Amino acid sequence: MSCELPEALQDVVTRLSRLPGMGPKSALRVAMTLLSWPEALTRELGMSIVQLREKLHLCNRCGGLSQTVTCPLCADPSRTQDTLCIVTDWDSELTMERGGFYHGQYLVLGGLISPLENSNADKLNLDLLEKRLNEGIIREVIFALGATLEAENTAAFLQGLVTSRFPGVRVTRLAQGIPLGSEVKNMDMETLRQSLKYRQDLR
Ligand SMILES: [Zn+2]
Repeated sequence: MSCELPEALQDVVTRLSRLPGMGPKSALRVAMTLLSWPEALTRELGMSIVQLREKLHLCNRCGGLSQTVTCPLCADPSRTQDTLCIVTDWDSELTMERGGFYHGQYLVLGGLISPLENSNADKLNLDLLEKRLNEGIIREVIFALGATLEAENTAAFLQGLVTSRFPGVRVTRLAQGIPLGSEVKNMDMETLRQSLKYRQDLR
């Protein structure tokens, strides 16, 4: 076929197409843009992608992305030490943090449990959660998992885990003013601030 792309270009297009929101057409457009850039600029982009994997790892306290073993949030002694906010992913931690209304600790769960596949709980950062609670400092766990079916299911699972193993720990979740189906990372700041302020006890 005469319209086949040169192999090197096809290779980049195929890889770019795996990115979220990127179909083959837009991947080709990106690849062509990269080709039109000065070589140094393209090289720098390539290097930053490589360094993303080399420099970033997961914080040993919250499981969020960090360039240091313990991320700056977890290492900050001025933050409230006895409140642990559990979020689904690191984006949600960022969103909460940008709001500036929460000053406690975080834990990134790394996913949610779908009601249909209860078995994927082992993919979550439960070890990290147990480690934090075992330290005996956390007095309240706040679920900030969003208002999806998966979030509800996960909150119920975690609530069972926390209340059975750590009966002295208060368990709350963001107030139900959150629009149904919404994820924490996509919520507007005021809604998020209000739902944290009026968080509900889960028992
Ligand atoms: Zn951290």
